[in-house]
Amino acid sequence: MPLSLPTLFAVGLGTLAVAAVMTFWERRFNAERARELMCWTVGYILMAIGCGIFLGRASLPLIVVQGVTNILMVGGYWLLLLGAMPFVGVRLPRKTLVFALMAATVWLLIGPNLSYAIWSAVGSFFITIPCFALALMLVLNGTTGPTRSWVLAAVVFGLHGMVYLARVVVIPFAYSLNQDGVLDAIALFTMFEGVVFSMAAPMALLSLTREESRHQLLRASQTDFLTGLDNRRAFTQRATPVIAERTEELEPAPLLVLFDLDNFKQINDDYGHDAGDQVLKIFGRVARSIFGPQDCVARMGGEEFAALLIGREHDEAKQLLRAVSARFAVEVLAETAITRHVTFSAGLVAVRPGDTLRALMTTADHLLYRAKQAGRNRVETDLDVAPAPASVVADDDEPHARPTLARVASRSA
Ligand code: GH3
Ligand code: MG
Ligand code: MG
Repeated sequence: MPLSLPTLFAVGLGTLAVAAVMTFWERRFNAERARELMCWTVGYILMAIGCGIFLGRASLPLIVVQGVTNILMVGGYWLLLLGAMPFVGVRLPRKTLVFALMAATVWLLIGPNLSYAIWSAVGSFFITIPCFALALMLVLNGTTGPTRSWVLAAVVFGLHGMVYLARVVVIPFAYSLNQDGVLDAIALFTMFEGVVFSMAAPMALLSLTREESRHQLLRASQTDFLTGLDNRRAFTQRATPVIAERTEELEPAPLLVLFDLDNFKQINDDYGHDAGDQVLKIFGRVARSIFGPQDCVARMGGEEFAALLIGREHDEAKQLLRAVSARFAVEVLAETAITRHVTFSAGLVAVRPGDTLRALMTTADHLLYRAKQAGRNRVETDLDVAPAPASVVADDDEPHARPTLARVASRSA
């Protein structure tokens, strides 16, 4: 099937127009990336106009065909790069725009007077740079991120950059040897590859944005809005396999702790709901900082929190709970208008083979209830020795705030 250059330019114009419309449409669903999507949209439009100019080049002056076309094409590629940069946290300084305008002006003055080989090689070189920069940027950054679509975009732009790098080298060489047939073949191949790129690039870039927003939605669905901790859903998803995989060999056993802040309703009543929110945030922050990255910490709802401690000996768990209790009380006094010594009660259970999360939660809840019955500010446990949170700030007005010893509870479930 014979392919002509004008046909390929016409197809390219069509695919780029579709890319612009699709990318612009995507802004409706991704307000956070509206600027980047707009940047890409304008990039595709510039390239499409470049294709259009080529189609009508017979009736257009040289300054447009050899000057403006390159500026539009090269500008389009740089806009694709510009739109991709925020995905990896890079921003161009404003003066880059001044530099780009100066380069465009220089090109308008000298571009139309260059020989075909130099004109073509220089234009290709300025396309190679943004393509390789975009691919490299994604490779360097992508491996540390949670999303995977960067691989697709890096391959698409990396290969396209290689095609244009080859043009930089081969075209002047073929031109110097008067190889018109080779030059025609290169032009045809480049434009065919360009049409493929004009479909692959928007798909790759859109999948980058879609994967990012999917990931953000997933994180939001697993995160407690107030404290930033995992929510009940995420806790269940993380804790269930740990509990299911619990075998005799795994020592020390994972430990499940269920926390409930003491007299929290009173804090809301006395100091206001905002102060209550602050207390919840402080508890979340303190718990997160004292437990390790391997431990799951979550807000289960209201003023109830849970933690699944992994690889912790009982004594170590007791120390950690004391540390949470102490720092929580100190930081609430330091950061809020609350002058009361805030405390929590907790139920602590060890995960045994055959346990389920639901059964463990029920047991921990019974132990927690017992801690409340016994006067609060304590931990009830089914372990041999009971830990007790130590209050570090004495408060004569609050009897429950004094250091207490938890009772040893026998496991009923
Ligand atoms: P106990 O020591 O027996 O646990 O008493 P309590 O007052 O802590 O428990 P209760 O269940 O009576 O009250 C819990 C309160 O937590 C009631 C509710 O208004 C408050 N609460 C739940 N979620 C939030 C929240 O997101 N922010 C604030 N400020 N308060 C909340
Ligand atoms: Mg409660
Ligand atoms: Mg409570």
